[in-house]
Amino acid sequence: MGDLLLKEVAVRLLACVRSEDTVSRQGGDEFVIVLDNISSSADAGTVAQKILNALMQPYFIQGEELHIGASIGITIFPGDGDKVDALLRNSDIAMYHAKESGRNNYQFFAAEMNQQAAERYALGVDLRHALERNELRLHYQPVFNMPTGKVTSMEALLRWQHPELGLISPVKFITLAEETGLIVPIGEWVLRTVCLQIKTWLEQGYEVPRIAINLSVRQFRHKELLSDISRILGENEINPCYLALEITESMLAQNVDETAKILGQLNTMGVEIALDDFGTGYSSLSYLKRFPITTLKIDRSFVRDIATDPNDAAIIAAIIAMAGSLNMRVVAEGIETEEQLDFLEKQGCRHYQGFYFSKPLPASEMTSRLQH
Ligand code: C2E
Ligand code: MG
Ligand code: MG
Repeated sequence: MGDLLLKEVAVRLLACVRSEDTVSRQGGDEFVIVLDNISSSADAGTVAQKILNALMQPYFIQGEELHIGASIGITIFPGDGDKVDALLRNSDIAMYHAKESGRNNYQFFAAEMNQQAAERYALGVDLRHALERNELRLHYQPVFNMPTGKVTSMEALLRWQHPELGLISPVKFITLAEETGLIVPIGEWVLRTVCLQIKTWLEQGYEVPRIAINLSVRQFRHKELLSDISRILGENEINPCYLALEITESMLAQNVDETAKILGQLNTMGVEIALDDFGTGYSSLSYLKRFPITTLKIDRSFVRDIATDPNDAAIIAAIIAMAGSLNMRVVAEGIETEEQLDFLEKQGCRHYQGFYFSKPLPASEMTSRLQH
């Protein structure tokens, strides 16, 4: 069906241009169109709009009605580049910009886009290779129970060892990975690496706490999520009781029934679910009851300002009280000072994650902190 759709798209593209123009497919779902001899650059915009209108009409393929959108980037010769390479790269940047501006629109290339977009573009290209070049790393940050001082769980946090840029934080590339779809294979790598690590530690005789993995929206909506998880756990003979998944409030808000089903199945398998960055999203208390969530992680931003912002202190106290009555565990994220710890202990919080206790560490350093 995808092939038939591409053919129909090509037919429509041809119908939008003159006979002296060129339409070519670059591969995947990308087309390049060369408009010869236009009288002004505005003409390119007119043609782009015509193309968008044409592509937006429904497609009837094998009895199904399909809808697609398009994002178009435009470069003008010779102002935006006098070589093929430069023109293609800059139209790609402009197209990226069109995607970011909400899709189904066109954008002319502008030099300002260049610097920022070029960096992003290059990073996206590198990220595509990061997996095969083995540049991804996982660090582990322990969660401590107080007052016992025991490590009750750990969070696996992704890093990218870039050959030129050094160690890159997930904040810088997770969105990019989401946009490009790379998050799915990357997420699978994270899961597999965590399972291998658990297996290694267990074989070495260590007591291994539950390890939490962060899921992004696209992974969570990926239809193979459950089968991937159970397959990878199975391949490594890991009991699901060693695994937790961290999701965010926004994921609960979309598609409530489907979400409840997925979370229910994970819960039945024995995988725990934690709600990350709690308090920063769209929190509806009725959700919390509907889903099998065992842990709330209070977002770092509330913890940071405990001492100075009475609102944050009040919010934290409320979250802890509420979690208590819903029988959920609360983990406070981002504890950096004794003062923050004191406040949280007084409010009845028992689980802590933060630099005050430990930074995220590579597995080799984490090993020495585990107990036999
Ligand atoms: P998160 O899940 O909320 O993870 C906690 C973040 O807080 C981590 O940042 C951690 O290093 C940082 N942190 C922990 N304690 C402290 C503290 O005391 N002070 C300060 N200033 N920061 C602290 P990191 O590792 O940069 O990760 C950022 C975010 O990237 C994570 O936020 C998570 O949403 C996402 N992420 C990380 N790894 C993965 C992954 O494997 N997959 C996906 N989809 N997202 C990931
Ligand atoms: Mg997390
Ligand atoms: Mg968090």
